[in-house]
Amino acid sequence: MTLADAEREEVLGELLEALGATKVLWKTADLLPYTKDTYRIRLEDEYRYMPDIAVLPESTEDVQKVVRVAASRKIPLIPKGGGSNRTGMLVPIHGGIVVDTIRMNRILAVSKPDLSVTVQPGITLKDLEDQLAEHGLWLTQEQGSQKMATVGGSLSTSGFSRRHQKYGTIADRVMSLEVVLADGSVLRTGPKVLYTSTGYRLHQLFVAAEGTLGIITEAALRVEPLPEARSAVLAFYDDFWAANEAALRIMASGVTFSAGEAYEAHGATAWGAPEGKHGLFYVALDGTKGEVEAEEEFIKRVVSESGGVLASRENAMSFVSKYTEQWCGARALTGFEDVLTTQVPMERMREFYDTLWNKIAPRYGIAPLPGEKYSLDVGRYRMAGGRYSLPKGERAWENYQKALREIARLATSMGGSVQSCHGVGIEHRDNMDLEFSEVALETMWKIKRVLDPDNIMNPGKKLPERK
Ligand SMILES: Cc1cc2nc3c(=O)[nH]c(=O)nc-3n(C[C@H](O)[C@H](O)[C@H](O)COP(=O)(O)OP(=O)(O)OC[C@H]3O[C@@H](n4cnc5c(N)ncnc54)[C@H](O)[C@@H]3O)c2cc1C
Repeated sequence: MTLADAEREEVLGELLEALGATKVLWKTADLLPYTKDTYRIRLEDEYRYMPDIAVLPESTEDVQKVVRVAASRKIPLIPKGGGSNRTGMLVPIHGGIVVDTIRMNRILAVSKPDLSVTVQPGITLKDLEDQLAEHGLWLTQEQGSQKMATVGGSLSTSGFSRRHQKYGTIADRVMSLEVVLADGSVLRTGPKVLYTSTGYRLHQLFVAAEGTLGIITEAALRVEPLPEARSAVLAFYDDFWAANEAALRIMASGVTFSAGEAYEAHGATAWGAPEGKHGLFYVALDGTKGEVEAEEEFIKRVVSESGGVLASRENAMSFVSKYTEQWCGARALTGFEDVLTTQVPMERMREFYDTLWNKIAPRYGIAPLPGEKYSLDVGRYRMAGGRYSLPKGERAWENYQKALREIARLATSMGGSVQSCHGVGIEHRDNMDLEFSEVALETMWKIKRVLDPDNIMNPGKKLPERK
């Protein structure tokens, strides 16, 4: 909390009057869940950052009322979706008012002929998919966190869908947004069309903005007809690099698939892998029956030509469905590990991993989790990742910050990006200078100052502080 008691009382009074008692939370016990997200904050700092108040708006008008109260007193606002982000975007480091969109969870319109859906921001990706399925449609956005992540959160983090190879990510599906700006005005970014050459692409400005430019209150998104058929191919290899080689052949072939990943295999015998196979890749397919059958046959041929061992179709399908069954809420309570979603050029991937695991990790007491040293997204974004336990001991936090900076330096010196899909939050904020030039960062700050001159929208996140 940052407000003095008297001011907090006044703000509370104004919010209660504007919204009514059922939409405002102010008791400490009610505010505790708003102290963190799934980012592993420094242990000593747990519960150190407490918001002053949280609100539960149900409409755009409610959000406007809250923003006006906050703007008149320059109080920070933190928009919240499902709380599943991994980089501390919701940690209220400057106190303020959390705008929890959990009740703004309705579908407002569906158009089958236009293949579009208009939603409030607080609907989870899973609920949206379930409801769209009743219309024979889907958003196609398969995030591992889809039971918890909301449309507003996914847009604001530029969420990564593993089906991006065929359908793109949520950034590619935005037609139009409604956003409450820092002065309480409502911005409609443009018509609900996917393609236009008029105006600046204002809607894309709010993608990946991490709540620092405004509060998204409505989103019109492009959807697709549900596919007639789905399938999957899962194959086992001697090690990750062999699986990766086969995956690269598939990518180079031009065959259509919607999702794919290569991993270091861990416990793969549960999916039918013979002993001694330490690498795997899967490819998920969907489309018309004929398409899927032809693609499956093609991919199986590549597997057999590249020395892979095929899993049964049942095991492959079950392996693929595991991805979206994760419940990420528990990570907010545990989280003694972290994950990289780095992008580096393909030809430097081995060098990246060698330096990461053999030089940087041991220096700072980071250890890869068993079987999670390597992973590669087999799609157009080619994200390379790894999961590891955090350093322990007295200087654990300082060491981790140093390690993150070295990893960022490594990835960016190769022309890559340190975090493809988990955003910046507070975790990577101070390493953005490695990825962006001073001119690029200052341009971002100029945009921020125009839209949010008093820096009340999720301050202290995403952009490194200016001196
Ligand atoms: C187990 C697990 C699996 C994951 N898998 C994936 C994955 O496959 N792909 C992926 O991309 N990410 C993944 N993530 C990360 C996370 O789920 C995503 O970043 C997700 O999109 C965040 O959505 P959320 O609703 O939980 O947002 P929150 O965590 O609530 O918020 C994230 C950011 O968005 C802002 N925000 C939220 N709503 C609004 C709004 N209405 N207007 C403006 N700003 C807003 C917040 O201020 C914050 O800065 C995973 C996380 C976990 C724990």
